[in-house]
Amino acid sequence: MPETHQVVILGSGPAGLTAAIYTARANLSPFVVEGEPSSTSDQPGGQLMLTTEVENYPGFVDGVLGPDLMGRFRDQAARFGAEFLTSKARRVDLSSRPFGVWTHSTEGDPDVLARSLIVATGARALMLNVPGEARLMGHGVSTCATCDGFFFRNQKIVVVGGGDSALEEASFLTRFGENVTVVHRRKELRASKIMQDRAFANDKIDFRWDAVVTEILGDAKVRGVALTNLVTNEQDTLEADGVFVAIGHVPNTTVFAGMLDMDENGYIRTTDGTRTNVDGVFACGDVQDHVYRQAITAAGSGCMAAIDVERWLEAQGRG
Ligand code: NAP
Repeated sequence: MPETHQVVILGSGPAGLTAAIYTARANLSPFVVEGEPSSTSDQPGGQLMLTTEVENYPGFVDGVLGPDLMGRFRDQAARFGAEFLTSKARRVDLSSRPFGVWTHSTEGDPDVLARSLIVATGARALMLNVPGEARLMGHGVSTCATCDGFFFRNQKIVVVGGGDSALEEASFLTRFGENVTVVHRRKELRASKIMQDRAFANDKIDFRWDAVVTEILGDAKVRGVALTNLVTNEQDTLEADGVFVAIGHVPNTTVFAGMLDMDENGYIRTTDGTRTNVDGVFACGDVQDHVYRQAITAAGSGCMAAIDVERWLEAQGRG
């Protein structure tokens, strides 16, 4: 059997790496299962790896690139002795301690054992799952206006969604695009009143109501979207160079289903700081926060999880 780590951290975004820094400095030799390289936010470093300039992280007066910021977090954790495994949790067993984590396959004995566990697996953008979307990701399809808006100067942009994210993305994209069309599946927006007012007042933004994107068109790059009107069933196409999907996020919690209490959207419920319903398992960052979803709040809750773990281990008696 593998050695039992005092604390295993799943995830390496701002929450996981802050937890790693704090637990490393508490001499708990954290073992970080950092995720696997991919085009989504469950890769090492999390969602900030898909971002360019971060201008609101305190301390960086002139801004910092998302991947650079996460590189700094990681170096800082490593400096104090955090260990990293570039893999992801494929299965966990939280029914008894030490907790088991399978990182290579879901069969056989666990690859990693943990006295305590910090879940910081984050959230990822929801996708439409229509033809063309995956193929054209990075070739006109994006989930991040702040990352990719710049590429669509004086071009036609479509934003899909009707929540605050969609309108925020749409407003931001009017800085670059010739025009921005928000495609929403109903006639009422879900977004807050103030965001709606702002969007309606922006003459570069127009709306396609009751419409869904059924395909993203283009060979090497996006050239438009196919739309169906859900009320009239009419189909047409809309020319576009960029398609920003902004229909919400989903937490990376599938692996914990049936073990950790979650809300109706799959976000882990925490109480009394970062505690989950399983004694010895803590959760921090976007995996348990669908409200704030900022690097700084994720980092803050990573710090909380580290302190909670430290106190919990202390109470258990270090073994
Ligand atoms: P959201 O509020 O859940 O909105 C998702 C939108 O996408 C909804 O309008 C939904 O349509 C639509 N949608 C969902 N699945 C779809 C699909 N398969 N096809 C087409 N449309 C689909 O998500 P969000 O906008 O990301 O916001 C999440 C949370 O963050 C909210 O609490 C929001 O207030 C907050 N937020 C705040 C700010 C801000 O204050 N600056 C900015 C961003 C986000 P329906 O309306 O028909 O369900």
